[in-house]
Amino acid sequence: MTRETAPSDRTAIIVGAGIAGLATALSLARAKWSVIVLERAARLRGGAFVVGFSGMGYEAATRLGLVEELRARASPWRPMQQVDGDGRGLAWMSEASQRALTGHRTVSILRGDLEGALYGAAQHVADIRFGQTVTDVTDGADGAVVTLRDGSRVAADLVIGADGAHSTVRRLVFGPEDRWRYDFGVKVASFEVIDPPTSVREKTTLLTAVGRSAGLYPQRDGRLSAFFTFVRDDAGTADAAASLGRAYGDLGWVWPDLIQRAVSAESIFAAPSDRRRADADSRDDHPGRSRRLPPAESRAPHRVDGRRSPRRPRQARRAPSDRVGGCRSAALRRARRCVGH
Ligand SMILES: Cc1cc2nc3c(=O)[nH]c(=O)nc-3n(C[C@H](O)[C@H](O)[C@H](O)COP(=O)(O)OP(=O)(O)OC[C@H]3O[C@@H](n4cnc5c(N)ncnc54)[C@H](O)[C@@H]3O)c2cc1C
Repeated sequence: MTRETAPSDRTAIIVGAGIAGLATALSLARAKWSVIVLERAARLRGGAFVVGFSGMGYEAATRLGLVEELRARASPWRPMQQVDGDGRGLAWMSEASQRALTGHRTVSILRGDLEGALYGAAQHVADIRFGQTVTDVTDGADGAVVTLRDGSRVAADLVIGADGAHSTVRRLVFGPEDRWRYDFGVKVASFEVIDPPTSVREKTTLLTAVGRSAGLYPQRDGRLSAFFTFVRDDAGTADAAASLGRAYGDLGWVWPDLIQRAVSAESIFAAPSDRRRADADSRDDHPGRSRRLPPAESRAPHRVDGRRSPRRPRQARRAPSDRVGGCRSAALRRARRCVGH
């Protein structure tokens, strides 16, 4: 691994190598932190649904120096058609009108391509470990101590749970997720369509009907990213394609064909649509240094108590040399922050 940053005396552990984890890793590494990313999956997960971002998201991509690469990988602009369940056109918008409406500081991109661009940059500045996860997080004397799946422990100045909607870090630090969860009662499903029907191949197609909405987004390689939402059918939570069939089975036009393809799709992403409330300030009921940060606060490096992390006096940073020998990563050996092997 080539490191673009100088060795640092501040170590951050980020759990999760999704969009949030990789973007944070890149940001912290450029701010001269030593960064370890722990990803449970064996490899990047990819994802065939389109993520559109502008505003703060675009600003963040600009600061990370990734905008040109993201633009190169972006989903193409296409004329947009709004249709009903039988494919009757209800409204249209040209590419030029879409561009004028959204402005130039907007990118729509497949989730997997966004993740790939972030990983391409982050892998050179962070120690990214696949197939690894965390089993415990505790407050240490001057930071946090994270226990990994293999039983080893790593000390860090900052621990970030970027491990998705059902965050293990949040559960370990703040307790069961039920308390934070707000369920919209809706499910989303997404998959890639190879060789799509002609009528949707060259246009972005949107459907909005009572209790369901769908979007079909042509990609550069002729494939289609298909995205469906529907009121959750609890009988079918285990089988996403079957749930989709029940929710969209009464429609005509290309919809039955597309739903059928969901059954044979190489992979289908399906998840309940819910959110985690960030309104409750965890400092009120969690007296330690750990804190749930609302999104805007995540932009700058903070300690777990929310303040900017001061540099510790050199002597206090040093760990006994017999512990240093057990450190796996070069970053930790340099920072001498590895304990418990
Ligand atoms: C169909 C669809 C369309 C969307 N469109 C948009 C959009 O247009 N604009 C937008 O801004 N957002 C959009 N979103 C939301 C956006 O995709 C998500 O908010 C974003 O992907 C979340 O990224 P994340 O990194 O926080 O979490 P995730 O993508 O869930 O990544 C979490 C990572 O942590 C790993 N992990 C989980 N548990 C552990 C563990 N215990 N230990 C180690 N690793 C772990 C996972 O394997 C994963 O790699 C859309 C979402 C969907 C489903």
